[in-house]
Amino acid sequence: MCLICVELAKSKMTAKEAKAQFREMRVAMDAQHIREVEAKIAQAEIDEPTKP
Ligand SMILES: [Zn+2]
Repeated sequence: MCLICVELAKSKMTAKEAKAQFREMRVAMDAQHIREVEAKIAQAEIDEPTKP
């Protein structure tokens, strides 16, 4: 678990914000967790109501 996972789990971060954080944080993550976070962000995008 990292900040992105925690915030997404609490719905305190949008998929867009998570992506921005992920760009900065992925360099410090191991490859397996990168895949997990990518999957969580993809799911968050599906779950989020689309805003104009
Ligand atoms: Zn994480």
